[in-house]
Amino acid sequence: MIEIETVSKSFTGREGTFKAVDAVTLKIAAREVFGIIGESGAGKSTLMRFINALEIPDEGSVKMEGVDVGRLKGKALRDHQKDIGMIFQHFNLLGNKTVEENVRLPLMLHNYEQSLSLEEVLDFVGLADKRKNYPAELSGGEKQRVGIARALITRPKVLLCDEPTSALDENTTYEIVDVLRKAQREYDMTIIVVTHELHVIKALCHRAAVLEKGKLIDTVEVVNKPHER
Ligand code: ADP
Ligand code: ADP
Repeated sequence: MIEIETVSKSFTGREGTFKAVDAVTLKIAAREVFGIIGESGAGKSTLMRFINALEIPDEGSVKMEGVDVGRLKGKALRDHQKDIGMIFQHFNLLGNKTVEENVRLPLMLHNYEQSLSLEEVLDFVGLADKRKNYPAELSGGEKQRVGIARALITRPKVLLCDEPTSALDENTTYEIVDVLRKAQREYDMTIIVVTHELHVIKALCHRAAVLEKGKLIDTVEVVNKPHER
């Protein structure tokens, strides 16, 4: 479903130009939960952000369902980006909006033909009773559930997760892992997870790519057992 073909991207920093992503090739199947693991600065976020064209590779291509997403413009680019949801380490919620306002936000910005109802996504993440609360009144895990609901409401084909559990404690991490696995099944999504946490890869992903200094050094199958608590 997603074909990444010898992509590279350089940035210019204090010590000159360096390759943040260096000739990475990989394929991600539809409905796969795919991890990208590596140390801070390894190029994980940049690689993931090629998929929704928040970054454009200097070389190589990223194709989704056969379309080179780095070449999309205008409406075609917006339509592509509407197929892709994203969640973040620090949740990126608006503090002056309630849970339900945050979750509905994408629907205010764009017209989604396939969107889910507010009630469905709030029930799905277990936050129906917090819909009138503000982010400051929620725990970290609850904030991430809001982030997940905000992504799900648009019914994305692909969900990009950038360090989704890195700001959470261990128990909350596994709660969010469970919500993401359940979401993958219920909504038939492909999920891509950037993390530096090996236990998250083990609990959540089918396969993972290991990045080091921009290079893909390994792709591993995860022996996947549902997390036991
Ligand atoms: P279930 O949630 O039903 O136990 P899995 O979580 O193992 O199933 O798989 C969910 C989806 O991901 C399925 O559609 C499956 O085909 C796909 N999948 C599982 N493992 C892999 C893998 N290693 N590579 C690609 N796709 C996979
Ligand atoms: P990771 O997600 O693995 O921490 P990133 O993809 O965020 O890595 O970043 C890889 C490297 O590229 C880092 O050294 C980072 O500072 C640098 N980098 C990322 N984005 C930019 C940018 N827009 N401009 C300059 N340097 C960047």
